[in-house]
Amino acid sequence: MLRSRLPSRLRTQQFFSSRHQLKSVARIIPFSTNGEQQSSSTRQKIVPITVTVALGLAAATYFFFPDPYRGAPTTKNAPLSPSHFTPVKVISNEHSGPDTKLLKIAVPSQLLPAPEDRTAFFTPIWSVFIKDDDIQVERPYTPLEGVNENGHMLFWIKKYPKGEVGRWLHSKVPGDEIELRGPLMTWPWMEDKYDEVVMISGGTGITPFYQLFHTLIANPSTTSKTRFTLLHSSRIPEELPPSAILDPLVQYSSSNPDKFRLHVFVDSQDGSTPPSPIPEIHTGRISETDIRRCIGLGKLRLSWWQKLYQKEEPVDLTQRRILFIVCGPEPMINAISGPYGRNYSQGPVGGMLAAIGFSSSQVRKL
Ligand SMILES: Cc1cc2nc3c(=O)[nH]c(=O)nc-3n(C[C@H](O)[C@H](O)[C@H](O)COP(=O)(O)OP(=O)(O)OC[C@H]3O[C@@H](n4cnc5c(N)ncnc54)[C@H](O)[C@@H]3O)c2cc1C
Repeated sequence: MLRSRLPSRLRTQQFFSSRHQLKSVARIIPFSTNGEQQSSSTRQKIVPITVTVALGLAAATYFFFPDPYRGAPTTKNAPLSPSHFTPVKVISNEHSGPDTKLLKIAVPSQLLPAPEDRTAFFTPIWSVFIKDDDIQVERPYTPLEGVNENGHMLFWIKKYPKGEVGRWLHSKVPGDEIELRGPLMTWPWMEDKYDEVVMISGGTGITPFYQLFHTLIANPSTTSKTRFTLLHSSRIPEELPPSAILDPLVQYSSSNPDKFRLHVFVDSQDGSTPPSPIPEIHTGRISETDIRRCIGLGKLRLSWWQKLYQKEEPVDLTQRRILFIVCGPEPMINAISGPYGRNYSQGPVGGMLAAIGFSSSQVRKL
């Protein structure tokens, strides 16, 4: 989700509108070859030049201009939908740590689906596109608790020094109007497909997992047997998620350890304090050993005397009904699950999860 190296206009296009962009490029190519009949030698010269210029223009547009969602109008009275923007009111926008805010907005409740249709309409994990009106660009954000009966959505939003929409959202005050469209599917949850789900997040990468937690994990169906583990890391204690996120996770994990386990990490202890008390904070990045331990596998490497006396049975982990979902800054995704593929497709599993022995179908990079 939070791919730090590319401007997020590229990331969001990959998620939701790269097809649209590719279609535009594809249209340009036949267009340039559909002219009047020409002599074959002239055509031989003109066609490649036209195609090159058209592709160059398309590429320049793609890479250097912001990504206004040109097709989506703003509609005040139509029900919430991914195909148009809906104006919504900011209710609150509070500091929640260095560079982060908790933003609450209200969608007019008459624009929400009927209560009995909402569960199907807002299936986790979903996000909405929020449009920065000043520069007409949109970015996806994840409502932490989905949407409540009053139409409220709560977001945990990080701003980056040069980030466009994050900084713009941080400047909003109660009463301001912003526009959003959605819901858009980030990843579809499938009930009871897995015995075990391990979520690994860094920074605001926790937001999709919190939505899953709030909607499903903390309210499991009576038949659900899936066990969940969340490994979350932030850089320093004060950058850990705010108590609105951490407290429910901590409480639920301590009262339901058989259903949900939580492990919190910080890269380093700088003397700052976490936003709320956490029973245990591990210092250091999430490692292969941490992942192995949380799924009940033995030590990473046996010492020479252990190798001598207790041979580890090779286990085929690819048969386990387990899913790893990873969401965070790109270097973290790379280290844990391997890099994305071309055009931010999933790509094969790599990193620690491949080293432990899991297959690509057991790993999802958000
Ligand atoms: C499905 C989905 C859901 C998301 N949900 C949330 C959410 O709930 N909360 C949230 O805060 N974000 C979320 N994001 C990320 C969000 O959409 C934006 O990418 C992010 O807010 C940066 O956008 P921007 O316009 O502020 O920065 P941009 O203008 O896109 O970035 C400009 C510069 O800022 C820096 N930068 C931007 N992003 C990062 C990063 N991740 N790490 C390090 N540096 C960065 C880089 O230097 C970059 O070149 C989500 C993304 C996806 C795909």
